[in-house]
Amino acid sequence: MDDACQHRRLGILVKRTPVIGFIAGLWLALFALVALAQSTVGDAVPGLRVARLVDMPQSPDATAITSGSLEKSFQPVPGSMLQTSSRHDLWYRLELDSNWSGTQPLVLSFRDSLSARVWVYAPPTYQPHLLWLLKVDRQARFSRHALAEVLPAGIGAGQPIYVRLGQDDYGKHTTAQLTELPAYQAADLDHVRLVTLFASIQAAMVLVGFSLWLVLRDRLFLYFIGYVGTQLIYSMLINGELYELPGGWLFALLGTRGNWPFALISAALSISFIIEFCDLRRSTPRAARLFGWMRWPQLAAVPLFLLPLGRFEPVALTVLNLLILVASMWAIATVALALFQGNRQARFFIVAWMPQVAFTIFRVVQLLAGWHQPAWIEYGFPLTMAFASLVVTLGLADQTMHVRRERDIADHLARHDPLTGALSRRAVLHQLDIAVAEAHRSDQPLALLFLDVDHFKSVNDAHGHAVGDRCLQAVVASASHELRTGDWLGRLGGEEFIIGLPGATRENAHLIGERIRVRIQAQHLQANGHPIQLTASVGVAGLLDPRDTADALLERADAALYKAKAAGRNRVFIHPSLAAIVGN
Ligand code: GH3
Ligand code: MG
Ligand code: MG
Repeated sequence: MDDACQHRRLGILVKRTPVIGFIAGLWLALFALVALAQSTVGDAVPGLRVARLVDMPQSPDATAITSGSLEKSFQPVPGSMLQTSSRHDLWYRLELDSNWSGTQPLVLSFRDSLSARVWVYAPPTYQPHLLWLLKVDRQARFSRHALAEVLPAGIGAGQPIYVRLGQDDYGKHTTAQLTELPAYQAADLDHVRLVTLFASIQAAMVLVGFSLWLVLRDRLFLYFIGYVGTQLIYSMLINGELYELPGGWLFALLGTRGNWPFALISAALSISFIIEFCDLRRSTPRAARLFGWMRWPQLAAVPLFLLPLGRFEPVALTVLNLLILVASMWAIATVALALFQGNRQARFFIVAWMPQVAFTIFRVVQLLAGWHQPAWIEYGFPLTMAFASLVVTLGLADQTMHVRRERDIADHLARHDPLTGALSRRAVLHQLDIAVAEAHRSDQPLALLFLDVDHFKSVNDAHGHAVGDRCLQAVVASASHELRTGDWLGRLGGEEFIIGLPGATRENAHLIGERIRVRIQAQHLQANGHPIQLTASVGVAGLLDPRDTADALLERADAALYKAKAAGRNRVFIHPSLAAIVGN
């Protein structure tokens, strides 16, 4: 028994190693992609001199600015970070700090601009060109990684570029940068490859979840599709790529806060998913209930994105981020508790969720503290989301395997007699039917032994029922020892067993019956120091013509057993019908 236990444990370990290896490899591969994408560097290009229009009570006329009549009102600003205002538009003047003599044009880009509209007035025409994350532009030349404008070739140090930064409720900043066009495109392609890869992984997982739901109709998969799907929409709104897809203008209608509902719905659905996936209601009922309640403030906050929040927008955003952060940390705590109690699914969930929660915490802290967004966090988010959906899919597969194993165990219990391990009455009669049909089909002989322990009542009477039980186990062990693969043994009830011998001739059947009888008799059984002498009687019958049935065969074996008993027990008796045909 201990051996079997150890083997089973070893088996699980062996099966688990590739899964752990796969998860670790997956993480390393995705992370390496992110790390390598950051390494593209362009040639040296001119720097930017930035000046801001000051002392302007109202938004000035664009032509007054681009004609140069307000030059004196521009004040230099250190660095290349352009502040936005939550109250009104701001004007900037950008100049190259040296002439650009390169053969390739320069790209002026604005990074970290999630919500502000940027109008660029570039020489020689100074016509405004709007750049905006939400702008639907099916002719776009670049990704939405940054707002980008190609400057005219040969732009000189003295030619001002004017930039109008639209009023932005967040009141944040954007970073202006010059890059040579080929270098910008190369880095942009790297970005597109990465975001497309992560989005594709998530989209594929949604499709896998949907396929599973179509067949299995388990609502767990609906939660999975819902939470991964909305998360995918959220990240594609954040990086702006969704606006470029056909129908993307519908999302643009939601405005700059259009990603909020998706973040909140995704968070709420992920709670439903975690509760169901890890079966938390069973393993940690109280923590699971509290966790379930956390969905309601998240869902209640969805309409917030429609309200004119004005300067309260950053506050609302902070509250929402905190809501999601608290729920994420509660998820980890609850699932860790479940894991501690031996919850199987919890392991997958912890592995899937940990990196994402770490990033969520960092991201929220970064937003709250107003830190500049480091490059790795930009890809860290989609990376951990894609990773989590893959690992959770593995967990869903593991759950299916677990259910299958449980079903096999239930099936085994239903088919076997719990005391002796032989087939149960129902299973053995079914097996007899199958064997008879098979013997007719293949025109092969089939012998049936009917075994009954002799004077078993007196064994029970003398030593007690428990000893009787042990004797029945010993009988089955002895009989099983004499059987080959393909033979089968079942308990009809009490101390009566039938044994099927497909392909056995009369001689074989007789021999095997005799061996079983001898082996039972030869056992040295004891109860409280007293020897127990067990013997059994065996009736043998065989399948006759093609019209012979399982019932008739069983009846003849029973009749033969009766003869063995009548003849004095502890013997094998062959039914005359079998003796007659094989004797020919
Ligand atoms: P015979 O040689 O004629 O077969 O005599 P017998 O005493 O074996 O036959 P009988 O049918 O009179 O008695 C069968 C006994 O088997 C009666 C019952 O107490 C015992 N028995 C039936 N099922 C079990 C069981 O699961 N465990 C134990 N310990 N005894 C059982
Ligand atoms: Mg009996
Ligand atoms: Mg008996």
